Amino acid sequence: MDAPLPATPAPLPGSAPFDYDVVVVGGAVSGTSTAILLRRQLPSSRVLVVEKGEAFDWKVGESTVEISAYFLTRVLKLYDHLSREQLPKQAFRYWFHNEKVTCLREASEVGPTQLARTPSFQIDRAKLDEHLIAVAAAEGAEVWRPAKVVDFTLGGEAGNEVVVEKADGTRATVRCRWVVDATGRQALLARKRGGIVPVEGHPTASIWVRYRGVKDLDGPEVAGTDPSDPFVRKVVASRRLATNHFVGWGYWIWFIPLQGGETSVGLVWDTRLVSPEGATPLEKLTRFLDANPLTRELLEHATPVDGDCRYYGHLPYFVDRFVGPGWTCVGDAGGFIDPFYSPGLDQMSFSVASRVALVKRALMGAPAADMEKEYERHNRQYERYLRFFFESIYRDKYHLMGDYDTMTTAFLMDTGLYYLAAVHPVYRWSHERITVPPFSQDGSEVAFYPMRWYQRRLVSIAKRKKELGVYGNHNAGRRPGFVGFSLRSAAWVMLFHGVLRWGKAELANALTYVRRPRPIGGPQPVLPPKLAPTAG
Ligand SMILES: Cc1cc2nc3c(=O)[nH]c(=O)nc-3n(C[C@H](O)[C@H](O)[C@H](O)COP(=O)(O)OP(=O)(O)OC[C@H]3O[C@@H](n4cnc5c(N)ncnc54)[C@H](O)[C@@H]3O)c2cc1C
Repeated sequence: MDAPLPATPAPLPGSAPFDYDVVVVGGAVSGTSTAILLRRQLPSSRVLVVEKGEAFDWKVGESTVEISAYFLTRVLKLYDHLSREQLPKQAFRYWFHNEKVTCLREASEVGPTQLARTPSFQIDRAKLDEHLIAVAAAEGAEVWRPAKVVDFTLGGEAGNEVVVEKADGTRATVRCRWVVDATGRQALLARKRGGIVPVEGHPTASIWVRYRGVKDLDGPEVAGTDPSDPFVRKVVASRRLATNHFVGWGYWIWFIPLQGGETSVGLVWDTRLVSPEGATPLEKLTRFLDANPLTRELLEHATPVDGDCRYYGHLPYFVDRFVGPGWTCVGDAGGFIDPFYSPGLDQMSFSVASRVALVKRALMGAPAADMEKEYERHNRQYERYLRFFFESIYRDKYHLMGDYDTMTTAFLMDTGLYYLAAVHPVYRWSHERITVPPFSQDGSEVAFYPMRWYQRRLVSIAKRKKELGVYGNHNAGRRPGFVGFSLRSAAWVMLFHGVLRWGKAELANALTYVRRPRPIGGPQPVLPPKLAPTAG
């Protein structure tokens, strides 16, 4: 794949009548990754990238996890950029609170005690996307920017036409064999054919902004000046470099440090459970952050960056198809579920790797009938990956997020299984697994049904705890006790601990039917009737 490029590569079969072999619409991470891989794998391919933005502004998609980090470091070979221009990430960290908690050191905390052993990064997307578009151009893709695709006609085997509006207002029509939609949530191709399906069963929204002057979780204001302080000694890794989650019933808040010194702060909530108040998105966010004692502490001297606040009213959507003759989509243009656990760039990695492989085969002259079968298989398998992923990990998850017992159990089991089903295969078995997302293979129901079952059980237990007034009863004073995940046996150990905790949670839940626990006090939100908790 990364062999030196031949000096004069042979032209691709059948490419003569076209202006380009591939037009990639959208020049952010998905689009440029696609262009780079196509140029590396098919050096004679003529690739055009059309990006409408003159410059990339700050955007979300900053916290990479293991698969996207693998893709960025091993596939795109960006380790140098990531280590010089971005921050290393120290895993996920979760902070819980209840009415007893007034500050961070009183909160229950979950996260690894040791340094992360597989690479991941906190990335400033504007910097990454600028770097990638420069790499794509340097490796032979043509880049039109700022330029916007305003129309297209898909012609299958006969080729496609793409209409591009340039900065001076003139329009150009280019003919190409493939169109790759990398327009993010615009989802140009799916939108035109009416193929976008909002996930109504998961009504989540988000507001985010960058802050300056956020307190350093490892600094004297939070961690004190005494190196022998147990709060400090408990965790070897940097807390600041983690993606810190401040969780509550129906919501989570991320704090992601960026290399320039700002901190990305965002709120994601289930609109059935929580309703942030305020006249503007920024006011809603700041009032919400002020109501949580932990984020209030971190933001005591911080100010949001002017004009930087963004808001999405409904996050998740699926698309009906991912690839067909002469067209495909990558990244968010092929769907988005939820930012919790940062799966966005993982999905980008799987989609780019698998669809570049398909486009490459087609461009090299594979018979159309064979390719039709491949597209059909891919559409079926990729749809299953996203649907099963949503149903087994995310559906109703926001009910348990603010409860230390059930959320910690879910985190250990979800992440242990992520390692075993996605990270181990890619790092340890074969590089080709980057084209095989979890659940995509036939027979994956064997894993899906048990996962959906434990998730439903945990949600059900959390709902009952809410009903009994004991939701968050262990949200104070617990410190991390596990070392973290690795590519060796640690994932099994974490999974085992998760299963043990699940057993404990089931037992505690069963006992509530024998003896009703005393409510822990503090405000317990009143549920609307349609959401009244069900017995576990
Ligand atoms: C609240 C939130 C938090 C998130 N946090 C994370 C996280 O921590 N980690 C993670 O991995 N993922 C995260 N994600 C997901 C992540 O942001 C996306 O998966 C990622 O940005 C997708 O990249 P993309 O290149 O597909 O799309 P985008 O980054 O949206 O890029 C699309 C590009 O297409 C261009 N474009 C659009 N239309 C046209 C057109 N007609 N012509 C030319 N150009 C066009 C745009 O200018 C843009 O540059 C988050 C998402 C949300 C909503």
